[in-house]
Amino acid sequence: MKRNCLISIGMTALMFLSTPVGAWNQAGHRIIAAMAYDQLTDASKVEVARLLSHHPEYMHWIQGVPPAEAAEKAFMDAASWPDDIKSDPSFTNDGEIPTGPLSGQNIGFSDHLMHKYWHYVDFGFSTDGTPVKAVASVNVVTQIELIHKSLSDPKSSDQLKAYDLAWLIHLVADIHQPMHAVSRYTQDAPEGDAGGNRVHLCEHPCRSNLHSLWDDALGHGKQDDTLARKAVRLEGSHGKASSAIDPKAWAVESFQIAQKVAYEQPSIGTSLRAHSKPTERYHQQAHEIAKERARLASIRLAYMINSEVSASKRH
Ligand SMILES: [Zn+2]
Repeated sequence: MKRNCLISIGMTALMFLSTPVGAWNQAGHRIIAAMAYDQLTDASKVEVARLLSHHPEYMHWIQGVPPAEAAEKAFMDAASWPDDIKSDPSFTNDGEIPTGPLSGQNIGFSDHLMHKYWHYVDFGFSTDGTPVKAVASVNVVTQIELIHKSLSDPKSSDQLKAYDLAWLIHLVADIHQPMHAVSRYTQDAPEGDAGGNRVHLCEHPCRSNLHSLWDDALGHGKQDDTLARKAVRLEGSHGKASSAIDPKAWAVESFQIAQKVAYEQPSIGTSLRAHSKPTERYHQQAHEIAKERARLASIRLAYMINSEVSASKRH
């Protein structure tokens, strides 16, 4: 089946399914946050520092950090907080599928649900006629829209805005990870492959899968963090696509990249019984795409925050 055909099938079957997926690794989130921070106006930097000081983890984040670096450090640590709570015993794991009215609530730090299903939206597609599952009503698109609205609302408390800001920094990055907007349905995976989480790339007990390959595509650890950030900066981080706030469109971009590249070059894991070994070229391409997605995520995140600060000043 040709690529264009696949895309049209995917587009006509724009379906969401809640599935267990990860996220950019910590280095990926820090890279994107750092690039976005560079693009904040001075007024925005002051405002995000003020808001994040209301976050319960703030003192922990800035402990031992020179005052001049504290604001950026808090911003970068906030980027990973929605992943950190997944291993925090004071938070409740409410599953991978949103159920009930609490799933999509935005009430701030009194909410101790993990909301794992906020991190992704799985547009379904199939290459073998397997039925695609229905869409979850709460997902990364709905939550970015909700949080963005809350951050722009003068009635929102500073505590709620601190909660929202940490989630926004995280989710705008997640939605640009191609495997956070897709689930492929095959006869082997009638429930979907969970954004590639069920496509194994090596023999058990090795845990590498197609989703984790893309989560790690910006690099690992602090050294990669610095290098990747520098590399993306060299390519210019103040670019096009800065003026539209359209999370649904960002998710569709990710979905299309997943179909065109992640699943097709090479043809990965159509059978989940056998593992696939991506080529070196595949890894390189994933890295290049991840850098471009990170660049776009940083531009869009910075634009949202900058426009929210000016919006709040108008009120
Ligand atoms: Zn995430």
